[in-house]
Amino acid sequence: MISRADLEKCKKSELKFWLNCRGLRYKSTETRAELLSRVRQNLDKDFILIDPDPGKAYTRAKKKSKMQILFWEEQLRNPESQEPEALVTDTDVDVEESWSTDTSVLPKRFSYLNIVEHAKKSGREAKSYVEKPLEKGYKFFYENYCHDVLCKLEENEIHVKGKCFRSQKKNERPHNVTLILLTTGDVKRAKCSCPAGANGYCNHTMGLLYLIDHVIKLKAP
Ligand SMILES: [Zn+2]
Repeated sequence: MISRADLEKCKKSELKFWLNCRGLRYKSTETRAELLSRVRQNLDKDFILIDPDPGKAYTRAKKKSKMQILFWEEQLRNPESQEPEALVTDTDVDVEESWSTDTSVLPKRFSYLNIVEHAKKSGREAKSYVEKPLEKGYKFFYENYCHDVLCKLEENEIHVKGKCFRSQKKNERPHNVTLILLTTGDVKRAKCSCPAGANGYCNHTMGLLYLIDHVIKLKAP
């Protein structure tokens, strides 16, 4: 149970989780303040708690992605550290030997500018290009939609692949995103299995690019 004082510190995602567990509805556009007032109104009522993620697909992947970041952080402190067993990939993940969770191959010069550049380049046909996938992609990254990320270095190009949940449909099969980055940080090629993803102009690709940016920042001295 949560106290009124703790409630003030809750993140948006935590408020949503509280509501989900009680089967209470909210709009996806609601602000933190709106969600907070919704939780407050229901705080003293009795509810039968429900599992907000019956298939566990979302929980599992979220845990995995969090662990992956923790693992990367640990690896920075102690490069010899072994990958924990829980990170050994699922059966549906490609287990070619050259792919690994070792992110030291990621281009150090990659930054947010490369993400914007990629959005501009790949979205030239779109009307509201750049802003929309950049914004949504950030949400996907921030809410841990991206998971099972693997890297490999091949002839001076950095290949990255990962999975990303579809918006709002976390029990369905996630989309597959593949990227080729250059050592300069430029995105050479990007592709996603979603309908908009032929050139990687989609929220899933942007989400993965944000995650890469985040991991490179963690590694920066
Ligand atoms: Zn996509």
